[in-house]
Amino acid sequence: MVAGWIQKRRDHGGLTFVDLRDSSGIVQVVFSPEESPDAHSLAHELRNEFVIAVRGKVTKRPEGTENPNLSTGEIEILTTELEILNRSETPPFVIEDAGPEVSEEMKLKYRYLDLRRPSMQRNLRLRHKVCLATRNLLDKEGFVEIETPVLTKSTPEGARDFLVPSRMNPGTFFAMPQSPQLFKQLLMISGFGKYFQIVKCYRDEDLRADRQLEFTQIDIEMSFIDEEDIFRLTESLMARIFQEGLGITIETPLKRMTHAEAMERFGSDKPDVRFGMELIDVSDIVAESEFKIFASTIAKGGQVKAIVAPGLADLSRKQIDNLTDYVKDFGAKGLVSFKILYDDVESPVKRFFTAEQIKNMVDKAQAKAGDLMLLVADKPAVVADSLGRLRCKLADDLGLIDEKDIQLSWIVDFPLFQYNAEEKRLDSEHHPFTGVHPEDESMLDTEPLKVRSRSYDLVLNGNEVASGSIRIHQRDIQEKVFRTLKLKQEEVENRFGFFLDALRYGAPPHGGIALGLDRIVTTMVGGKSIREVIAFPKTQSGVCPLTGAPSEVSEEQLRELSISVDT
Ligand code: ASP
Repeated sequence: MVAGWIQKRRDHGGLTFVDLRDSSGIVQVVFSPEESPDAHSLAHELRNEFVIAVRGKVTKRPEGTENPNLSTGEIEILTTELEILNRSETPPFVIEDAGPEVSEEMKLKYRYLDLRRPSMQRNLRLRHKVCLATRNLLDKEGFVEIETPVLTKSTPEGARDFLVPSRMNPGTFFAMPQSPQLFKQLLMISGFGKYFQIVKCYRDEDLRADRQLEFTQIDIEMSFIDEEDIFRLTESLMARIFQEGLGITIETPLKRMTHAEAMERFGSDKPDVRFGMELIDVSDIVAESEFKIFASTIAKGGQVKAIVAPGLADLSRKQIDNLTDYVKDFGAKGLVSFKILYDDVESPVKRFFTAEQIKNMVDKAQAKAGDLMLLVADKPAVVADSLGRLRCKLADDLGLIDEKDIQLSWIVDFPLFQYNAEEKRLDSEHHPFTGVHPEDESMLDTEPLKVRSRSYDLVLNGNEVASGSIRIHQRDIQEKVFRTLKLKQEEVENRFGFFLDALRYGAPPHGGIALGLDRIVTTMVGGKSIREVIAFPKTQSGVCPLTGAPSEVSEEQLRELSISVDT
């Protein structure tokens, strides 16, 4: 017996054909008046998405009617018995991967139907396989999966917290974890040397293709280890995931790049290294040029960098203006272009440069005839961000990215802090529990922005897919970091007092990492958004069209929680 949903019904030459879909795929079912008059006549009632069970004979399809697009395309089921298990209303959209375009809102409103599509079935099954491979490998390595609370106190990872009011303690709130960071560190203090958890994390931040309000991490922590142990473990985990999930072999050990080099060459701390177009510093060449903007930017400590877009010398003024608008979104004040022609160079600002300066720029950037050289002058952070993003946009537009290519690399030696210009203070680059590079400890008081951390990110095709660090395990250093972050004593006591207390009682050296499960699986299925690998995600505006969450609650509930809503 086969049971499933009707994908399509067609009548043809006295026979009725049905494409029957179940979780394993599609099979063709045939109803003929000779084989079973009852089933044949009942088959006329069948409509899309009816649930049926059939019995019959598996036969080879007549020659010339095979369907090479189906794994069952050589056979069909000649029905002897049909039972309609349930009827369906006409679904709001055709449940087919290659069906007409359906809005995201609509798909998520009827997600249970959308999940019937073969690609969604495949995505979620792959996700399961990845989790299974993870659990198997970590179990074999001696890790213990331990759950940590969802109703807890704030664990900062740089986002806003989701708060849950406590009914029993009016006026107080739980925070949902942005990650299990502090609990996993506490578990190290408790003597569980190897912890992991496939765990939901909650971060109230603006959504993008690779972000959801709740997402899943493969969270790992280990004691008595250093960076190399984490690299080895994570690499074997990634290799296992790709091998078991897709049969793809990942070459290890993976490449490593310092944060400084990534910013320098690619303008990003998560560089996509599947294509070139690296950022080339031409500051020394143009510092003395007549082009005032370049010269003055460099004099003020800024820089001028170029990227070379291959074969784009024939872009129109308008197209270059569009690229200029693009970089302006990332803070650049403008974009200077040089078209490299066979025997000449064209640029609206050509007259400000000597022939030698132009030649030196072209040579350094290795621009060839037919290429377009694009330059930005600004503070290093703005140059990096604007050109780094332009580089990715152009590679995308030009089709320079081989979608099958899988490039995984470690980014190491991140700075410990970053400057928050708005609030005029330092923020943690990762989180405040990140270990300090031993060589830089003495600069914590004097030059904190120069202090490197013991953190590392794993980057997959330009996406950060894992992040972690060796942690601070000495209380005095942890307190010093809080002081450098200008957290008030009272605030520290209030938010992290319990953790500082725990650091008094023999915390072992420890460190860990968290891998973004959704992002990894999205890359594996070649998806564009993590929503494609999450069963019930929220839309870009943070709502669930299926359930209508978030929604208002009753007066009664608010009263119980001692909350009044002011809208
Ligand atoms: N808490 C993670 C860690 O292991 C990082 C993260 O959640 O992004 O360092």
